[in-house]
Amino acid sequence: NSELVLQYHITEFGISDRLLVARDITRLVRLEQTRQDFVANASHELRTPLTVIRGYLETFLDQELPKPMNRALTQMQIQATRMESLVADLLLLSRLEASQHIPDENPIHIHKVLEAIRTDALLLSGDKHHTISLEVESNHDLLGQAQELHSAFSNLVFNAVRYTPENGHITIRWWVDLEGGHVSVSDDGLGIDSIHIPRLTERFYRVDEGRSSSTGGTGLGLAIVKHALQRHGARLTIESKIGYGSTFICHFPVDMLTTH
Ligand code: ADP
Repeated sequence: NSELVLQYHITEFGISDRLLVARDITRLVRLEQTRQDFVANASHELRTPLTVIRGYLETFLDQELPKPMNRALTQMQIQATRMESLVADLLLLSRLEASQHIPDENPIHIHKVLEAIRTDALLLSGDKHHTISLEVESNHDLLGQAQELHSAFSNLVFNAVRYTPENGHITIRWWVDLEGGHVSVSDDGLGIDSIHIPRLTERFYRVDEGRSSSTGGTGLGLAIVKHALQRHGARLTIESKIGYGSTFICHFPVDMLTTH
């Protein structure tokens, strides 16, 4: 039996009928470890065949081909690219879950990181003509792991681009107050109903399956954000209103701040 229940009475101190429940979670921890290992190995093994498939597809698409064949191969290329992103995100997530510690803590030039993400987001926005502004209100920087923080912030900004209709506004902000440093990403896009908010950072949780899968996301973006932030002692808050837009804020503790 994995559950042990002890019942005892402490009458001298005036406390009676205390219940102590101890549960052996060794099996659960082992199962979770097996799941994590399986996902990490499977995604690693899937990478090579996918690269080969995509390479051949590119070679075929370089040739003059009959229209129906060209159309079919183009579709295959799109799906193979999608699968590659999924495998990359699964690998990243399993790495983030595997350890609670940040491998190295370096000063990260937050202005440069956010500026680079803004440039990529403008490319992703393409003919949706979003206005994407960056407001850097502090010259503090962050201590952390550059790639992980880049993944976290870019997932939030790319989501804002994906879930905001044409001509929408997106604002990326960095500010520091007594509680620490904060990166926020706001949009005036579709917004999210409050019942979904507590579950958004679960793997593959999507508000609207049809709408989300057509945007090209992997369903792992916010899970990656959550785990990357947790490893930095940071947390994510989400505010949103249907039809008005959403704000995602990453809160970093004071001890993660530095100056350049
Ligand atoms: P996905 O790849 O589906 O975007 P995420 O984990 O990044 O996966 O996001 C989970 C879900 O949260 C999305 O499917 C979408 O429904 C919702 N979502 C995320 N960001 C936004 C946003 N800025 N505006 C509206 N909905 C969002």
